[in-house]
Amino acid sequence: MDNSLISSDENPPRSEKSISFLVVDDDARARESLVALLKRQWPDITEAEDGEEAISLIQQRQYNLIILDLNMPKKSGDQVLTFIREKKIQTTVIVISGETSINKVTDAVRLGAYDIFRKPYSFDELEHSIRNALDKLLVEDEKAQIQKRLEHSEQLHRYMVNNSPDLIYILNLKGEFSFVNNSVKRLLGYERADLIGKHYSEIIADEDRMKAEYLFNERRRESRTNRTVELGLKCNAVNSSKSFQTSVCPIELNSMGIYSVDSKGSKKVSTYQGTYGVARDISSRKKAEKLITYQAYHDLLTKLPNRAMLLDRLDLAVKQAARTGQTLIVMFLDLDRFKLINDSFGHVVGDQLLVEVADRLKAEIRTGDTLARLGGDEFMLLLPQPTTRLQAESVAQKLIASLQQPFYLRGKEVYVNVSIGIAVFPDDSNDINTLIKNADMAMYDVKATGKNGYTFYDDKLEHAAAEKISIESGLRKALKNDELEIYYQPQLDVTTRRIVGVEALLRWNHPEFGLVEPNYFIEHAEESRIIEQLSDWVLHRVATDLFANEDFLASGIKVSINLSASDIRNKNFPESLVALTRHYGIEPKRLEIEITENMFMSDIQACTHKLQVLSNKGISIAIDDFGTGYSSLNYLRELPVHAVKIDYSFVSEIEHSEKGAALVAAIVGMAQGLGIDIVAEGVENTNQSDYLEELGCHVMQGYLFSRPVAVSDFLGRITTQKENYSSLSNA
Ligand code: C2E
Ligand code: CA
Ligand code: CA
Repeated sequence: MDNSLISSDENPPRSEKSISFLVVDDDARARESLVALLKRQWPDITEAEDGEEAISLIQQRQYNLIILDLNMPKKSGDQVLTFIREKKIQTTVIVISGETSINKVTDAVRLGAYDIFRKPYSFDELEHSIRNALDKLLVEDEKAQIQKRLEHSEQLHRYMVNNSPDLIYILNLKGEFSFVNNSVKRLLGYERADLIGKHYSEIIADEDRMKAEYLFNERRRESRTNRTVELGLKCNAVNSSKSFQTSVCPIELNSMGIYSVDSKGSKKVSTYQGTYGVARDISSRKKAEKLITYQAYHDLLTKLPNRAMLLDRLDLAVKQAARTGQTLIVMFLDLDRFKLINDSFGHVVGDQLLVEVADRLKAEIRTGDTLARLGGDEFMLLLPQPTTRLQAESVAQKLIASLQQPFYLRGKEVYVNVSIGIAVFPDDSNDINTLIKNADMAMYDVKATGKNGYTFYDDKLEHAAAEKISIESGLRKALKNDELEIYYQPQLDVTTRRIVGVEALLRWNHPEFGLVEPNYFIEHAEESRIIEQLSDWVLHRVATDLFANEDFLASGIKVSINLSASDIRNKNFPESLVALTRHYGIEPKRLEIEITENMFMSDIQACTHKLQVLSNKGISIAIDDFGTGYSSLNYLRELPVHAVKIDYSFVSEIEHSEKGAALVAAIVGMAQGLGIDIVAEGVENTNQSDYLEELGCHVMQGYLFSRPVAVSDFLGRITTQKENYSSLSNA
């Protein structure tokens, strides 16, 4: 900013004492007596004895008042007056002269003398004239200063207006711009000249025209216009120095009427002259507000609406459907085994997968539908238009199909399934929270009864849900109240028909719901980490169930225990397991742990080390659900793996497709090549067992041979096997 605008360089008002006099007279006596008289009041007096000296003094400094003789040697008084006039010197000259001719007198006046006295004169009269001259001088001084201040403040205002970051404008009576400040270029991209004379409505965003009508062109004055209004102004994108992302700039507007006041007789009449207004650019504030609203209503990872927005829309949709008597659908979606992917690949990849899943699901829904992410791997879909159950079913099928193609994470093919629970308004409830709860319940039913599918809510699910509500606390209670049990499923060597192994499978003997299978609670237990307590319990129970039994001890049968990722990650693993075998006196070679291939994905090195320790102690390691995971086959070489268990899903394909049969053959071939044992799981019929046997896979587990059975049943079989065997060998 120009400094002169803020520094105040105004002259201080002149005081009497500071008035400077120059007395010019070649008559020394007359001059000195005049000076003596003047000095009584005005101390600053200079003398000159001729015109020449006077001119030289005048050039050196300013005198407020000059008392000048006309008739002088060297330069006359006329010449001094002429000099003053030509040089435009600011001063007041009073002439004192012996001259009497009227010509001389008028000449002096013409040349600018303020007053003329003829010698001899009365000092009182001269003093009176001097006073008048000084009064006039003071008035002029004041006027000059006011003028200067005005100029100064006008300059200041102009500066403020033009450099204001706000758009400042004046509209004339017709609503046309008669003034706009410089900011218009920066804010809206127009040249000032472009707008002058244009009607204001030309720059109002179309949707705000109505709103702007009264506001932009505000006629009311100050106190009545203190509200601030938000509007959009059109930007001139082509002409702008900065590139405008949007062609509408949001502003906050303050405007008021300008009135001129005239006196008509005794009455004051004000006339409307136009409108003055200030428009402030609020785009960054708007952007921030938008972001905040966006964050409040969206899931930032997938950019889908979040729970809050879904609840808003559901509330609205339910009210509307209630009025019109129509139905609407709420679906609860949950990805299966997502936790496993997160554990195996890490959260970054897990997040990426969620984004891709969200995109695929989004592609399947219509514009009026709301797909929201509730958190984790949970999604919710609202179909607000009247939708029949049949239509809902086809949407669910489409959603499931959309995830069927593999995802590629870190170059690996990953399959993701989804479980969908569906609730219908108003059949299942007319309360939004209950609707969501019911959809959730239906979803859990899908999970518990075989994954990857959909089901509608049914009030029979109610008590199943009651149990789910507190699976975690239920499991804690189960541990305390001894509600857990182990079922044993034998593994048979089909060539000898003898039991060579057994898998320990957990059951929850629920006081209300009876025997509950692990698929229902293992995932929860893993999520809540209560799984580690369960595994611990299983190990102790297996030890006491089996290794206290003579026949079992003698049989040499290996027992398999299922462990979870968090068991392996536990810092006490595998030492705790080794300690347990010692505690119960179990031979390590009688123990096998089953782990799924995903478990060691996240930290293969730490896993390899731990499993190596275990293997060195003589405990075997089997890969469970082989072929269904995400890891590479390399680990089979790196890890101390003793056996692979061909998953039930492959075995069941043997009869159904050539491809399925070929796949099983390939797995068996590969394991044989690597010198790894194979166990086929879920063998249900002789077609399967014959085929597997032909391939060279002899050890099998499945309903064909035995379901998982209670410990007493299992031990009974061991005893029978022993008796049969001994009677056989006795024979
Ligand atoms: P898994 O380890 O794959 O266990 C085999 C499952 O297949 C068992 O289900 C078994 O009952 C079932 N099965 C056996 N033969 C057949 C058959 O011929 N046909 C069919 N359709 N199924 C058969 P279960 O006992 O319900 O266990 C389910 C899963 O729960 C197990 O799958 C395992 O992953 C987990 N699990 C069970 N017990 C434990 C445990 O103590 N700890 C841990 N961490 N997980 C366990
Ligand atoms: Ca298993
Ligand atoms: Ca398995």
